Amino acid sequence: MLPDTLPEPLIVPRPEHTISRANISPNALKVLNRLKQAGFQAYLVGGGVRDLLLGHEPKDFDIATDATPEEVRDVFRNCRLIGRRFRLAHVFFGREIVEVATFRGSHAEGGSETQVTEQGMILRDNVYGSITEDALRRDFTVNALYYNIADFSLVDYAGGLADIEQGCLRLIGDDPVARYREDPVRMLRAVRFACKLGFVIDPDCAAPIRDLAELLGEISPARLFEETLKLFHGGFALQAFEKLRHHDLFAQLFPETDACLARQDHDFPITFVSRGLDNTDRRILEGKPVAPAFLFAVLLWEPVRLRYRALLGEGMASAEAMALAAHEVASAQQRRVAIQKRFALPMREIWAMQPQLERRQGKRPLVLLSHPRFRAAYDFLLLRAEAGETDPELAQWWARFQEVDAAERVKMLGGSAARKRKRRKRKPKTEPAAKPVAGKDAAAASDTDAPTSVPPSTGPAHD
Ligand code: ATP
Ligand code: MG
Repeated sequence: MLPDTLPEPLIVPRPEHTISRANISPNALKVLNRLKQAGFQAYLVGGGVRDLLLGHEPKDFDIATDATPEEVRDVFRNCRLIGRRFRLAHVFFGREIVEVATFRGSHAEGGSETQVTEQGMILRDNVYGSITEDALRRDFTVNALYYNIADFSLVDYAGGLADIEQGCLRLIGDDPVARYREDPVRMLRAVRFACKLGFVIDPDCAAPIRDLAELLGEISPARLFEETLKLFHGGFALQAFEKLRHHDLFAQLFPETDACLARQDHDFPITFVSRGLDNTDRRILEGKPVAPAFLFAVLLWEPVRLRYRALLGEGMASAEAMALAAHEVASAQQRRVAIQKRFALPMREIWAMQPQLERRQGKRPLVLLSHPRFRAAYDFLLLRAEAGETDPELAQWWARFQEVDAAERVKMLGGSAARKRKRRKRKPKTEPAAKPVAGKDAAAASDTDAPTSVPPSTGPAHD
C-alpha cells in the first residue's frame, strides 16, 4: 500500500550526477525527445538508469511517460501496444525495442483496470497516475530512479541513490511482505539483482522470503521460465543457484532437483550442477553462446538419473528407461517452469545420448559423432566425469575419438570391441551371474578402464 502523503523527491541537477546522453542508446534518446516535443513528460527509468550510475552497460532502456499507451502510439509509427497485465508500448528500431510505460497509479482506486487476489497479488494493473505514484509502485529503490529528458536531472523518490551508494537492495515502502505478496516474482528479482549488482539484500527484505517462497506456486510457469533464464543466463548462475537455495526459492523452481540435492548421500549431484553453472558463467564471460537446453539438462539431470537407474533396476532396457525417466521428470517440471518445446526436445536428446555414449563398439560411436546434439551431449558427459559421476576414461576416450583420423577411429573401435570380447570370456570364471546394469550406476556399467584424469572441459556446447 502506498503512504497517504507522497514524498518530495530528491532532484539531482545535471552537473551533479554522472549520467551522460553519450551512454544512452540513440534510439531511447529519440523516443524521449519525441515524447517531450509532443508535450509529454518523458523519463529514462529502471535498469538503464541504475546500471549507468553503477558504470555498467545497461541491457535495455525503459522509458516512463505521462502519455497513455494510445497517445504513445500516435506519436510513433513504429509502435505496438502489448501486454494485458501491464499495457505497454513497444517502439521498434530494427532489432532494438524501446519499452515505453505509462506512469502507474495506485491500484486501490483502480476499478476494473486493476485486479488483486485475496492474497494481495496484483493480476492486472492498468491504472495510470503521476510519476510519484509510479515511483512508489516499482520494486526496489535502485530501480526507481528517473532521468528527466526535460532538464537532464535525476529524480529520486525512494532513496535509491543512497542505496546505490551503499550497495543495498531494498524494496520500496515499509512492508516487504505486502510487496512480495503483490508480486511473488519480486523474490526472484531480489536474488537476481543481488547477484548481478553485487548488492546485499536488506535484512528486512531478505527475512520474509523463506516463509513466502511458496507464493511462487501462483505464478504462471511461462513467466517463471523467463525469470529462470534471467537468473541462470546472466553470467552469475552459480551465485544465483547458491542464493536461491539459501532462501528456499530453488525448491519452488526445481522441486525434484532440490529434493535430490537435499538427500546428500553423494557429493556429485551438487558438484555436477555447480560445475555446469560455473561453465555457463565462464562461457558468458568469454562472449560464447549458451543454450537453455543445456542449462535445463544440467538442472534436471539428478532426478532423471535416479529415475533412469530405478527403471533399469526394474529390468527395463536402457533407451526405454531413459526416455521414460526424461518424460516423467520433464512433465513434472512443466508444472513449475514451462520449458518451451524447442528447448525441451534438445534437452531430452542430451540425456538420451548419455547411455549411448557408453557403448563404444561397432558403428554406433560414428553415428553419434554426426548427431547434431553430439557436442552438447559430450560436454554433458565431461561434466558428469568431472563431478565423479561417471568414469573419466570414458570422457577421455571420446575426446580422443574426436581428435584422431578415420583410420585411428577404426582402430579405437576395434580395440574396444576386442577388449570387450576378452572380458566377456573371462567373466564366468570370476563372476557367477552378470546382472546387466540393474541397480548399478550408469557409469560403472560402462566398459571403461581405471579412472584417469579428465580432459579439460570446453564448457557447454550449444545448438
Ligand atoms: P534488467 O533489465 O537489467 O533485468 P530492470 O530493472 O530494467 O533490470 P526490468 O524487468 O527491465 O528490470 O523492469 C524495468 C523496471 O520496471 C524495473 O527497474 C522496475 O522499476 C520495474 N519493474 C519490473 N518488474 C517489476 C515488478 N515485478 N514489480 C515492480 N516493479 C517492477
Ligand atoms: Mg530493463
